[in-house]
Amino acid sequence: MASQLPLTISATEDRENDGSYGAWRRKFCREYAALLEATRENTNRSLRASVSAEGRQISCQKECTSCCHHYVSVSLAQGMVIVAHLYRTKGLLQQFLDRYEEWREKAEAIAEEIDGIRNRALASSTPIARVIMDTRPLSTRYFLANVRCPFLVDGLCSIYPVRPLACSGHHSVSPPEWCAPDSQQKPEIRRMTPDDRDLLGMIRVGDPWLTLFELALPTMVYRLLTEGSAAMTSLMHSQIKSAPPGRADVQTGVAKQ
Ligand code: SF4
Ligand code: SF4
Repeated sequence: MASQLPLTISATEDRENDGSYGAWRRKFCREYAALLEATRENTNRSLRASVSAEGRQISCQKECTSCCHHYVSVSLAQGMVIVAHLYRTKGLLQQFLDRYEEWREKAEAIAEEIDGIRNRALASSTPIARVIMDTRPLSTRYFLANVRCPFLVDGLCSIYPVRPLACSGHHSVSPPEWCAPDSQQKPEIRRMTPDDRDLLGMIRVGDPWLTLFELALPTMVYRLLTEGSAAMTSLMHSQIKSAPPGRADVQTGVAKQ
């Protein structure tokens, strides 16, 4: 299967695994994946407790996929964990590449506009409420374009164990059909963001910006696969070099709107 991958991707993987950088990257991805898993469990526990305290129920079900047509962002660190997973499961990597071109054709331009607003906001410490207001019309356009996430395969998330926190923290307490783009009803969505302790744990495991800098999920993964994490780290620093480190309230990984 590896021999069918484009040469750029195989060459980037070789570079990503090379020498002391490769050893650091693998260790970072292992540690970060464990932190993500713990964060996912903590946020899900809080979500279930708060929903059941209201006497409500989460209505999300297997193969319910309208929310997989929203704009979803990931941090560079989460993107690295997803790519490490794809390196271990080359069939999934190939499936992503097969679906990526369709996504790029239909959704990349809107996603780039959203990414641009979000990262300019990150560099200037703009409050999250303002970012949501500025990006909402674009997020709505993205959703109405009805483009599936390239990781959605046969109605299921193909990277479920390492899916973005934006996905695992997004739940509806309304009937599932209300999430469809043509629904007249608006679903009541419960978004769980990491609590301070989990967020600080993620920020402390490496360069804090690896947790804060985000791009649309397909863009981040494709660029990591073709350019590598060192190049993406340089890009991140060039885009946010004027921003003060440690601000965690600008973006929190939750981008479905
Ligand atoms: S958020 Fe909506 S579309 Fe997504 S799984 Fe839940 S009910 Fe289904
Ligand atoms: S990563 Fe998985 S859960 Fe998230 S939007 Fe894509 S297919 Fe859906």
